[in-house]
Amino acid sequence: MSGYEGLIKNLMSELPRDLVTYNWPVRCVHWNNTEKEENSLMIECDDERKIAADHVIVTVPLGYLKKNHSTLFSPPLSLHKLHSVERLGFGTTNVIYVEFDSPWWDADCENIYLMWEDEDGMVDQVPDVQRSCIKKLFGFTVLKPTERYGHVLCGWIAGHESEYMETLSEQEVTHTMTQLIRRFTGNPTVTPRRALRSQWFHDPWTCGSYCQLPRKRLLSPGPGEHDGASAYRWVTFTTSAGVVCWRGYSYLLLFHRSWSTPHWVERS
Ligand SMILES: Cc1cc2nc3c(=O)[nH]c(=O)nc-3n(C[C@H](O)[C@H](O)[C@H](O)COP(=O)(O)OP(=O)(O)OC[C@H]3O[C@@H](n4cnc5c(N)ncnc54)[C@H](O)[C@@H]3O)c2cc1C
Repeated sequence: MSGYEGLIKNLMSELPRDLVTYNWPVRCVHWNNTEKEENSLMIECDDERKIAADHVIVTVPLGYLKKNHSTLFSPPLSLHKLHSVERLGFGTTNVIYVEFDSPWWDADCENIYLMWEDEDGMVDQVPDVQRSCIKKLFGFTVLKPTERYGHVLCGWIAGHESEYMETLSEQEVTHTMTQLIRRFTGNPTVTPRRALRSQWFHDPWTCGSYCQLPRKRLLSPGPGEHDGASAYRWVTFTTSAGVVCWRGYSYLLLFHRSWSTPHWVERS
């Protein structure tokens, strides 16, 4: 296996051909479809196609749900569920891949961390986002093996600055990365071949990349709540015709105790 792609291929090999469909956005889940005689759940797609179902498992990212819940479910979700959607946080971490013709780091180097001398402490948002957004890039991972990836660093940038970075052109990102690396290495000739970045905040199907429990709730769960558990109790509901449930990384009670990974997606 070569990573998660191999895992998916293996799982798919056990399913009948053409059972899984891609690039077929869902517009609305009709979960209490009283107009229909057989009263089934019905999925309405963006291209007007309609699919009747006994069960629906919704795995859209929380960011997408926050933005689209009013149109994604008919009838709309209850206030209790909407309150949970609102209270859970969804932020952005982006990656910036920077490719070089040859490495300027040591052969055994795995991570490169950047430290700014003028930093007083952790700030939620740097004051001048246009000028300083790159300060939220906290380091690079060296992609390995070199035979497979070439000489590529993967930079990590989080927060609102990361969302601002998405609005820059690819050329501007490459220029900013060049200046950053030259400054930290002290070598004015280091020049990346190119830089590629993710834009998960502006991606209409994700609207961000990481979810988290609000700090306040993690520190002091409300009456009768255990570790913010009540925020998650809404993940399944039964309709007169079948079951609608949420699954995936954003919806597991335990995810915040560990990294958000496909392992926890599977557990959910
Ligand atoms: C920067 C980053 C690095 C990560 N690194 C790792 C790692 O190294 N190892 C690891 O194990 N995990 C990693 N993760 C976590 C892992 O990617 C997630 O936990 C996992 O992808 C979540 O899977 P999911 O199916 O819940 O959601 P997603 O993978 O987000 O899938 C949700 C899908 O729903 C689709 N969708 C949205 N709206 C609709 C609609 N209306 N109709 C149809 N489809 C729709 C979206 O297009 C998307 O494909 C990383 C995450 C990030 C952001």
